[in-house]
Amino acid sequence: MVVFDKVLVANRGEIAVRVLRTLRELGIGSVAVHSDADANARHVREADEAIRIGRASARESYLCIPAVIEAALRTGVAAIHPGYGFLSENAEFARACEDNGIVFIGPPVEAMRAMGDKIAAKTRVAAAGVPVVPGRHDLGMTDSDLAAACESVGFPALLKPSAGGGGKGMRVVRHSGEVGAAAESARRESRSSFGDDALLVERYIERPRHIEVQVAADRHGNVIHLWERECSLQRRHQKVMEEAPSVWVTPGMRDRMGAAAVDVARSCAYTGVGTVEFIVDSTSAEDFFFLEMNTRLQVEHPVTEAITGIDLVRWQIEIAEGRELPLTQEEVGLTGHAIEARVYAEDPATGFLPSSGRLMLVHEPAEQGSLGRWPAVRVDSAVESGDTVGSDYDPMIAKLIAHGPDRAQALARLHQMLSETAYLGVTTNTAYLGRLLALSDVVNGDLHTGLIDEHTELAAPEDVPDDVLAAAALERLISITPAAPGGDPWMRGDSWRLGPRAWASWRVRGPGAVAVDVFARGTPERAKIRIGDGEVMLASVHASDGRLTVELEGDQRSYWYARTSATLWLSRDGQTWRLVELDRLDAERTESAGVGAVVSPMPGSVIAVYVKPGDPVASGDPLVAVEAMKMEHTLHAKGDGVVLEVPVSVGQQVAMDAELVLLGSRDARGEEETGEHA
Ligand code: ADP
Repeated sequence: MVVFDKVLVANRGEIAVRVLRTLRELGIGSVAVHSDADANARHVREADEAIRIGRASARESYLCIPAVIEAALRTGVAAIHPGYGFLSENAEFARACEDNGIVFIGPPVEAMRAMGDKIAAKTRVAAAGVPVVPGRHDLGMTDSDLAAACESVGFPALLKPSAGGGGKGMRVVRHSGEVGAAAESARRESRSSFGDDALLVERYIERPRHIEVQVAADRHGNVIHLWERECSLQRRHQKVMEEAPSVWVTPGMRDRMGAAAVDVARSCAYTGVGTVEFIVDSTSAEDFFFLEMNTRLQVEHPVTEAITGIDLVRWQIEIAEGRELPLTQEEVGLTGHAIEARVYAEDPATGFLPSSGRLMLVHEPAEQGSLGRWPAVRVDSAVESGDTVGSDYDPMIAKLIAHGPDRAQALARLHQMLSETAYLGVTTNTAYLGRLLALSDVVNGDLHTGLIDEHTELAAPEDVPDDVLAAAALERLISITPAAPGGDPWMRGDSWRLGPRAWASWRVRGPGAVAVDVFARGTPERAKIRIGDGEVMLASVHASDGRLTVELEGDQRSYWYARTSATLWLSRDGQTWRLVELDRLDAERTESAGVGAVVSPMPGSVIAVYVKPGDPVASGDPLVAVEAMKMEHTLHAKGDGVVLEVPVSVGQQVAMDAELVLLGSRDARGEEETGEHA
C-alpha cells in the first residue's frame, strides 16, 4: 500500500474542481494543469500548484500525453487523476503513467482495453452470462453482413460504431432498403470521430430507458455495486438530467442489475470505480441489456454519492493506493432520492449552439442541508464571477444536485435551486431545465430516452415579460439621473434636460422577440414606465451589489443584472434575458470615440481576430473579421482605445449584434472594466 502525498488532476472545468475538493479534504497536495485558455480558470486558482501544458486546443494540451506526463514528472506527483473525458479512457495514457512510475487513478490498462471496444466488450460480457442487446457483434462485418444481420435481428435495427462514444455515428434503419446508405454514413462518421469504422447491429429498442449501475472494485478481489442511476433524459443521446435511484426499477430488478454489473466488472478484472450502462425496454417486461462499461468516474456520479453518502473520488484514490473497499455490499446504504441537472453555456433557442463570453456575474445556490455525507443542495461548478467561458472545450459549466427524502422533494429542491441561479454574460440552458422539470412525464417519472427530443417546444424562446422590459428602462433611468442634487446639468451628456420632464425612450430587443419601445420618465424613486403603447405604470428602482430591486404597480421584484455597453443582462427566478438596447448600438456605431462594444453586423462566423486584451488600437485598425454567406466583413476601430476583452475566437458562430471586441479609452481603463454595475 502507498499513500499519495500529491496528485495531479489531468482535467479542467467542474470535474477538476470536484477532484480538488476531495484532495483538499484528504490533505493531499494538488497540481492543476492548464492550457493557455485556462491560465486563470477556477481549477487553477483552487489547486496548490498549477502548470501550463500547452495551447488552447485540447489536442495541444489536455489531450497531449507527453505534456501531461512531463507536468507530472516536473511537479513530482505520485499519481494522476484523469477526471472524465479527455484522457480518462485512454489506455495509452494509463500505460504512459505506468511506464513513468506514476499511478493512474483508474482501472488497469487491460480492463480499459477490454471495455473500450463495444464489439469486444459485448462478446466478453455475453460469455459471462450478462444479457446484451439482441444483435450481431462479430468482428469485421462487411456491408452485406450488416444487411443480413439487420434482417435477422429484425427492424427497426440500430447500426452502431464499435469504437463509439457520445452517441456519434449511430443510425436507425427501419427497412432493408435503408441499410446500405445508413452503413455508409455511419462508417464515415465513425472513421472521422474515432479513426475506426467497425460497426455492429443491435435491435433498436423504441422508447428505452437508460439505467446504469455504479460499481467499485478493489485490488483484493472485492467487487460491489452502489445502486443504479437513471439517465433517460437525454437530448440527442446526451444526458441532460440524471437521478438515483430510478423510480422505475423494482427491488428485484435492482438486485439483478447490480449482480449483472458486478459480473461485468469481474469479467475484465476491473479495479477502481466504473459504470455499467444498461438499456431497458420501457414498454415490456423487466428485461435489461448491457450497453457498455465506462471505465472512469462519470459526470453524474454525485447522485450516487448523495444517496449512498460515499465520496467516490476518495474511493478511487484509496483503491489506487491499494486499500480495501471500506464497505461490503450489505453495508451500502440508500437514503432518499437525488437529481442532477447539467448547466450548459448554450442557447436552446438557436439549436443549442454553445455560447461564450465573460461571466460578469455568477450566482449559484449556497450549499446547505444534508441527509448524510453530502449537502442536500450541492453545486459542482467550474465558474465564478469574472471568469470567461471560451469555445475551446465542452460547454458544461456547472451541475446542480438536489437530494431529498423522496423524489418529489428532490424535484422541488432542484426547481428551487434552478430559480436561484444567475449566469450573466453567456446564455445558458437554466430556463430550459426549469421547463423540462415541469413536464408532467418528468414529474411522474415516465421517462424514456426520446422524451426530450419529442418536446421541441421546450427550446423555443419566450417573449420578454413586461416587468423585465420595465426593469431594463429603469436601470437606464438610474444611469441618466444625476447622482446627487447640485450636479452640473450643463456637463451632462445624456437626454436630461431642463423644463418639463420628457419621456426618455429606449428600443430594446430580447431573444427571438421583435424590438419593443420602452419609455421612462421621472427619477428612480418615482418613475413612470410605458411599454410600447401600453398603459403608464408607476415604478421605482433601487440598485446595489449587482441587484436591481424594482417596484412596478405595487409588485416588488429583484433581478441580478450586469451590463456591457449596449447589452443588459437581467435575471430573475432562474430565467436570464439578454437585452440589446438598439438605440445605444446605433449611437455606438456612429460614434467616433472608439470606446464600447464592437458588435457583429450580421450572423456569421469569426474568421480572424487581430487583437487581444490589453492591445492599444488606433482609428482604422482592424479588430475582427466575420464571414457570412461567403461575404467577409472586417470591423475596424473607430478611434483610439485599448482592447478590454475579446469574447470570441476564430471559428466561433456569432449572432447578429453579438459583442466581438470590447474597447476602453486609453486613460480610463480600470474604470471601464468595473463600471458595469451601476
Ligand atoms: P455511446 O458510447 O456513443 O454513448 P451507447 O451505446 O452508450 O453509445 O448509447 C448511447 C445512447 O444511445 C443510449 O443511452 C440510448 O439512448 C441510445 N441507444 C443505444 N443503443 C440503443 C438501442 N439498441 N436501442 C435504442 N437506443 C439505443
